[in-house]
Amino acid sequence: TKAPTPPTKAKEKASEPPLGRQNNKTAPPSPPRIISDLRGRSYQRIAFLGEGGFARVYEVVDQQGQNLACKVVTKDSLKTKKAKTKLYAEIRIHKMLEHPNIVNFIDCFEDEDNVYMSLELCTGGSLMDVFRQRRGFSEAETRYFMIQILGACHYMHAHSVIHRDLKLGNIFLDANFNIKVGDFGLAALIENEGERKKTICGTPNYIAPEVLFDTANGHSYEVDVWSTGVILYTLLIGRPPFQTREVKDIYDRIKDNIYEFPDKRPISAAAKELITSILTKDPAQRPTVYEIVDHPFLSQGTFPPYLPEAACNGVPDFS
Ligand code: ADP
Repeated sequence: TKAPTPPTKAKEKASEPPLGRQNNKTAPPSPPRIISDLRGRSYQRIAFLGEGGFARVYEVVDQQGQNLACKVVTKDSLKTKKAKTKLYAEIRIHKMLEHPNIVNFIDCFEDEDNVYMSLELCTGGSLMDVFRQRRGFSEAETRYFMIQILGACHYMHAHSVIHRDLKLGNIFLDANFNIKVGDFGLAALIENEGERKKTICGTPNYIAPEVLFDTANGHSYEVDVWSTGVILYTLLIGRPPFQTREVKDIYDRIKDNIYEFPDKRPISAAAKELITSILTKDPAQRPTVYEIVDHPFLSQGTFPPYLPEAACNGVPDFS
């Protein structure tokens, strides 16, 4: 069978960051320098942090002098019912979550032109930014990142939330190199036990096979587990496992489970074994988050309690 045509909701570019604002010839006007909510609170906009497919994110300072991130969605982009439903789902889900490894959702409000979400500020940028500088990490550093990502994942699943877009670009870092999972724009809530989701969404390199190829059965929490396997491989090997130029070819490789462990980037047998078990095509056979955390790769070996700032530029010495 052929790979399906690229799904409408999946961002269609193979590499990160995802495509910027699409179908928009002109950039929307910047939000005001002083952003005010209806309760008389105001935030001073001080810097532009980045943009994704749906929002622009700014650094702001609140009246207490605290620096925050402010995610801005223009009301112009919320004219369709679908766009509104999507934003409300993001807000509803993100608001529910409170965990040291999840970007803290502080507040949301609106003015005439925009909807705003104030969020915990992640001054370390995304894991993608650090990854680009390092092109891969040591096993000890990877353990440090993975255990926090898995902690966030376990918490989300325990609160009936599937993130559905876990990837380096959506995993942020605070000033102390703590992981903060963010961007709940594709997250879904499982409202009835056993419920399966049918919307095809995600980012090509990280998308689980059942999302693309088992649309009749749908998907659930296991899609996030798959993405943690892609993240683990990427952190250690230096590029995503199924990556090729064409998105269609990525989907073919995901369907046929084609990826390799290159000789020029040797990793431990335990790491290989864990990646192989997570990247299992059948979601029912994939390990649970508990089983992953218990795996020798994560439960044995050097485990740094924190990463020094120098980790941005080279492998830190943990000896
Ligand atoms: P979208 O939902 O449109 O994809 P994201 O939530 O991924 O938007 O944010 C877009 C960009 O803004 C990110 O890639 C990052 O550079 C920046 N950003 C988002 N949230 C934060 C945050 N809490 N702290 C710092 N930067 C952030």
